Amino acid sequence: MKVQLLDLASQYRKIKKEVLREVKQVCESQHYILGKNVAALESEIAAYSGAKYAIGVASGTDAILIALMAAGVKAGDKVVTTPFTFFATAGSISRLGAVPVFVDIEPETYNIDPAALEALLKKSAKGVKAIIPVHLYGQCADMDRIMKVARKYRIAVIEDAAQSIGAGYKGKRAGAIGDLGCFSFYPTKNLGCFGDGGMVTTNSARLADRVKMLRVHGSRVRYYHDEVGANSRLDEIQAAILRIKLKRLDSWSAGREKNAKRYDSLFAKANIKGVLDTPKISEGCVSVYNQYVIRVKKRDELRAYLSAAGIGSEVYYPLPLHLQKCFKELGYKKGDFPVSEKAAKEVLALPIYPELTPAAIKHVVATIAGFYSKA
Ligand SMILES: *Cc1c(COP(=O)(O)O)cnc(C)c1O
Repeated sequence: MKVQLLDLASQYRKIKKEVLREVKQVCESQHYILGKNVAALESEIAAYSGAKYAIGVASGTDAILIALMAAGVKAGDKVVTTPFTFFATAGSISRLGAVPVFVDIEPETYNIDPAALEALLKKSAKGVKAIIPVHLYGQCADMDRIMKVARKYRIAVIEDAAQSIGAGYKGKRAGAIGDLGCFSFYPTKNLGCFGDGGMVTTNSARLADRVKMLRVHGSRVRYYHDEVGANSRLDEIQAAILRIKLKRLDSWSAGREKNAKRYDSLFAKANIKGVLDTPKISEGCVSVYNQYVIRVKKRDELRAYLSAAGIGSEVYYPLPLHLQKCFKELGYKKGDFPVSEKAAKEVLALPIYPELTPAAIKHVVATIAGFYSKA
């Protein structure tokens, strides 16, 4: 039995007719940029996330870049984030000429450690203009503590919610808690389009106006430019497809959660305690399980074994950002963030997509248990 890490084809089959009809409509309308689908999707995502405003942009990476610009981050400013995230989080900081400052993660949630963040700012908050907590794998970071310390030092909070659309945090949803929120519609995200796309959310009318201005070359009135912005827009075809998928997102997230619970209980019964940890969801959090990530001993051997058995898995992420070649000049070294470095050696994401069958989950767990019983 083969089990792919992700199966976008089965999702496509279910929505194909509707997708082709809507794409055709956009083509017939000949209106491709910032038309009615983008406007409608923006209000729908705002309502879905519980934020007052949502502004479509060209990708999740651009969402972070433009959110930083909207928050007034400039070259030379410091922006605090985690080294255990997708590259774009820190890459966007650097592209502005700002300086990423890393803080280690919590071992159980893999999200930024608020105690380490507090300690860093207490030592010196000088030059720090923003904090980007990342809601990794579908679970929100500890936002109460992050917001508290950010307010104390008057630092903007930009949520990287690329993996966490719809994730719950104490009655709120990802993207509506900080000053700005960033979503990605990359195909493998929980709400993925048929190309690149992204969205910025905010509760501030002033910041929403800035994001709108920055995505069209810093222009509020056509051909008059207040600031140097970017050309970063979500297009009508992607927005039309995303609107079809957004209607089904809650049921897909429920499917992911059901699969996660099934894995949890099967792993608990599999008698492989001590070599395998299942994901921990914090009190007050509802995960949307963009990934189901286990922590294991002999991770690389297990991954090769699964691959030989026809089971897909992936390592998010094998090298923490402070050790990436492109960030050498930041001056970090091995050992600076031990929790992230350990996680990078031990995490493994298993298939979790909503259409995954109970039999497939059982097979994945049995194969993993088989590996450790031989080891
Ligand atoms: C996917 C992702 C991004 C970037 O999104 P793109 O749409 O691929 O540019 C940023 N941060 C995190 C945590 C992500 O997973």
